[in-house]
Amino acid sequence: MDYQKILEDIYEEIQPFAKDGKQADYIPALAKVNPDQFGMCLETVSGEVYAHMQADTRFSIQSITKVFALAMCLSMKGETLWKRVGKEPSGTAFNSLVQLEVEKGIPRNPFINAGAIVLADLLISELEDPEAEFLRFVRALCGSETVDYNMEVALSEREKGYLNAAIANMLKYHGTIENDIEQVLMFYFKMCSVEMSCRELAKAFLAFTNHAPFEYAGYKLSKSRIKRLNAVMQTCGFYDEAGEFSYLVGLPGKSGVGGGIIAVYPHRYSVAVWSPRLNSKGNSVLGMKALELLTTYTEESIF
Ligand code: GLU
Repeated sequence: MDYQKILEDIYEEIQPFAKDGKQADYIPALAKVNPDQFGMCLETVSGEVYAHMQADTRFSIQSITKVFALAMCLSMKGETLWKRVGKEPSGTAFNSLVQLEVEKGIPRNPFINAGAIVLADLLISELEDPEAEFLRFVRALCGSETVDYNMEVALSEREKGYLNAAIANMLKYHGTIENDIEQVLMFYFKMCSVEMSCRELAKAFLAFTNHAPFEYAGYKLSKSRIKRLNAVMQTCGFYDEAGEFSYLVGLPGKSGVGGGIIAVYPHRYSVAVWSPRLNSKGNSVLGMKALELLTTYTEESIF
């Protein structure tokens, strides 16, 4: 398969949509990003790397970080994790309060904000230095020691993070989080602020293709757990557009409001794409289109 040519063709084909959507501006630091950027990188399990355009530009991975947090929590807690957070698609916005109230403080899944705030709380409870430990894990996955938090983005989000603060308060009220609300929120924002390039993300997510034993920085996951983690990505990875992504692309994946999307083709490859302009559901317009074309041209998907 000539993936390089396919990436180049895809880029040409999506140009008519290059000005559709707009970047996230509810986090002031993200509003400053040039929206007219695009990068893509695919890495196969045999180590071939295909990159196009700004595949080496780092961007704010935002909600993609939730997959890393989930992997750590699953590794430490196993199935007992699911007592604190569900694994059903939410069908509501990623920052919705309504469902959390109705369901008495148990978030629908780990990829909505409420769910990831619970993961942040769990990591704080379990680890001596959760911030350093989280970075150590992500760096081991992507093989880059310079991947880091962006404090400007984290603090900017804290300043305007009224909804996430409301979510954390509701979780605390229901006893779903154990630690100090401010500490949990700041750790959650820091995890979201991590910056990585498409090349680094593709490398990191190769670990989730289940082609080799998973052990990074001491965190292990069995093949069965990786299967389950992919299932949660498939059903919950795209806000309330998980069905649409599944329909169009046919791969498990996760998006973030920084405009990044990663997708995993189990046992074959991982692919990362980034472009900051988002659709109304919070997913990258060009990113969705590029991945739809990738599985269409290659006729490869899990279905
Ligand atoms: N830090 C973002 C928030 O909590 C993450 C949102 C996202 O990428 O889905 O709003």
